[in-house]
Amino acid sequence: MVLVAIAIHLAISNNAEIKVAQELQASSKTINEFWSMRSRQLQDSAAPLARDFGFRAAISSGDDETARTALANGAARVEIANAFVIRQDGGSVSIDGTLDPAIASDLWTKLDEGWQGGALRIGDSTYQAVAAPIEAPALVGWLIVAKPLNAAELTSLGELSAIPLKASIARHDNSGKWVFDGSARLVTPQFEKLLNQSSFSGEIEFLGDNAVHFRPLGKSAQGVDAVLILEYSVADALAQYNSLKIAVALAGLAGLAIILFATRRIARGMTRPIAALQDAAERLEKGERINLEVGSDDELGRLTGAFNEMSAQIVERERDIAHMAFHDDLTGLPNRVMFTEQLEMSLRKVVSRKGHLAVLCLDLDNFKIVNDTLGHAVGDALLQEVSRRLTGVLGDHFLARQGGDEFTILLTDEAGPLKPETVARAVIEAIGQPIDHAGQPLFVGASIGIAMAPDDSLDPQDLLKHADLALYKSKEAGRGQFRFFELTMDEQAQERRKLEMALRVALQQGEFELHYQPLFDLERNEISGFEALLRWNHPERGQISPIDFIPIAEDTGLIIPIGEWVIQEACRHARDWPDHIRVAVNVSTVQFRSPGLQSVVIQALAQTGIEPSRLEIEITESIFLESNESILAILHGLRSFGVRVALDDFGTGYSSLSYLRSFPFDKIKIDRSFIMELLVDSNASAVVHAIAELARALGMETTAEGVEEAGQLEALRLHGCTNVQGYLFSRPVNATDAIAMLSESPQRATA
Ligand code: C2E
Ligand code: MG
Ligand code: MG
Repeated sequence: MVLVAIAIHLAISNNAEIKVAQELQASSKTINEFWSMRSRQLQDSAAPLARDFGFRAAISSGDDETARTALANGAARVEIANAFVIRQDGGSVSIDGTLDPAIASDLWTKLDEGWQGGALRIGDSTYQAVAAPIEAPALVGWLIVAKPLNAAELTSLGELSAIPLKASIARHDNSGKWVFDGSARLVTPQFEKLLNQSSFSGEIEFLGDNAVHFRPLGKSAQGVDAVLILEYSVADALAQYNSLKIAVALAGLAGLAIILFATRRIARGMTRPIAALQDAAERLEKGERINLEVGSDDELGRLTGAFNEMSAQIVERERDIAHMAFHDDLTGLPNRVMFTEQLEMSLRKVVSRKGHLAVLCLDLDNFKIVNDTLGHAVGDALLQEVSRRLTGVLGDHFLARQGGDEFTILLTDEAGPLKPETVARAVIEAIGQPIDHAGQPLFVGASIGIAMAPDDSLDPQDLLKHADLALYKSKEAGRGQFRFFELTMDEQAQERRKLEMALRVALQQGEFELHYQPLFDLERNEISGFEALLRWNHPERGQISPIDFIPIAEDTGLIIPIGEWVIQEACRHARDWPDHIRVAVNVSTVQFRSPGLQSVVIQALAQTGIEPSRLEIEITESIFLESNESILAILHGLRSFGVRVALDDFGTGYSSLSYLRSFPFDKIKIDRSFIMELLVDSNASAVVHAIAELARALGMETTAEGVEEAGQLEALRLHGCTNVQGYLFSRPVNATDAIAMLSESPQRATA
């Protein structure tokens, strides 16, 4: 805008100058014409007088009086201010007396040079004058007619122009210096320089603020007599353009204002949606769902649309993630996290309402077997069916899957009194119904543990732990039952935790010891070997039974290093025994499934150098509850070194005769429970007989466990058992006593 303003200003100035010059030129032309016209008028008024006979006669005869009268009459007739005659003889006649001889001689000089008219100075005034010859018939003089060029004349000259001109006349004064005629105005050196030039081009000069035009008025041998000066103020000319300039400036300002306004609008049009997007992004970050208005279909509009889309998808995904985080994939039930949250919330309400709630922990009884034998797909379908049944039974009560085959139920008394027993019974009943699998009924039961708030605890984790303890107890007591949490359960659990801690250091502290119980061969009537039985000499509690600490060792995995130690220790002791005496070592299922078992056995054998056939590994049926294939592979591996394998506690577990077919055990140990009943229960007797027969048929030895009475021994002999073990012969004894026993007479078996 500034550049345009400067350009416009320059253009206007330039244009104004050109226009001023043009107008000045035009005016000077007009003034020229005016001057010539006045010259002609003067000529026209002089001519009749100069030709007047009487006048001519008076001049030629020197009758000055008559000539003056004629001159005055003639002048009056043509309204001429001044007229005079210069005679050939040098005299002069004028209307009002005589003429300054200096002027007369000057005029003669001019006339000699051919002067016919021009500016003329008489006294202090400047005149426009013309000369007309007076001939009678020879030239006797000149009639000069003059009209003054005074201020009024000059003003009228100025007014001739269409533009406001200032006209003035410069002339020489008596000393030959340039002065302004009839004015006190001083001639500036610039003016003087221009006035002194020999010829006037007629061009327009610019002096200061003015455009100046010089026009010489008559010329004599001495140079220019007078110069008409026309001045025109460029500032005045430019003043005409002021309104235009103001208009341009206003238009510029208006343009500027429009540009500012438009820029602001455009900028806002861009920044507002961007600011809105930024704000929306911040809100989105805080988890709000965003839906911005799409104002336009330009890039910003499309960006806004894309943003909305993104926000919607984030919200959707968050919902999915939240659902995934709080729900179980398989059953769609709330998961552990959500249950805990719900429990926390309900507990807060219990506190504020002084109400009650119950937490039920549920575990399926035979799920593991189904999963292992029929596969995970069947297991999954089973869990889904169970969750359907639970939902059906529970209605509005909060049900969650904790993982695996464990479910939790939350009962509150908000809708009515708490009835945890009723709910537990209904659930056990519902789950107890056979579940159809490919036409075959599957039987899974449920065991339940119940903990109550506020009675048992107000802490959610405690409550869950208590319900879990109660569940554990109800499982222990037999399946398909429910149990309420009791304080003693917690004490037992704490007791167990203490044992667990002590067990962790027992091995390093050398608190373990192996005792040996003889295995008696009924056919040869002598000790055939010893079973190694682990003893824990607790520094404070004394000897702790393996029945109490082996499960803990199994749960914590400590059984693996402990079992390793047992194998090595047993082999070490067996080295000191006669070569035909075997050592039997119990191997836990957990230990058996751990990868290092085979190498532990090989190492123990190698280090002690005992024959592999002297080592007997005792396993229980529970080992077959999981992946038969790999178990069998390990068993075959052990047997291929020559290690013997015995099936312990036969008849208690999930006994299936098929185990006996699937692996060639070296020995079957008939569980003590049958031996106890042997003399009182004919069924037990039949079972023992059948096992002994079967074993014989399969080429396996049999050992009867827990023989305490001589009668039992007799019966076992009759049934055909090959080995016996029990207090009747000996309780488990320490290693030293075991060696001592070997040197004693073996006749005790018959005693
Ligand atoms: P088990 O392998 O069946 O061992 C026989 C158990 O019956 C031993 O109990 C033994 O003392 C007991 N017993 C022997 N004869 C009689 C009898 O005439 N009457 C009665 N009432 N009991 C008799 P113990 O030593 O308390 O061991 C219990 C169980 O602990 C063992 O049963 C075995 O399963 C496990 N166990 C013992 N030592 C180890 C071990 O080193 N490793 C592993 N994994 N388990 C072991
Ligand atoms: Mg055993
Ligand atoms: Mg046993």
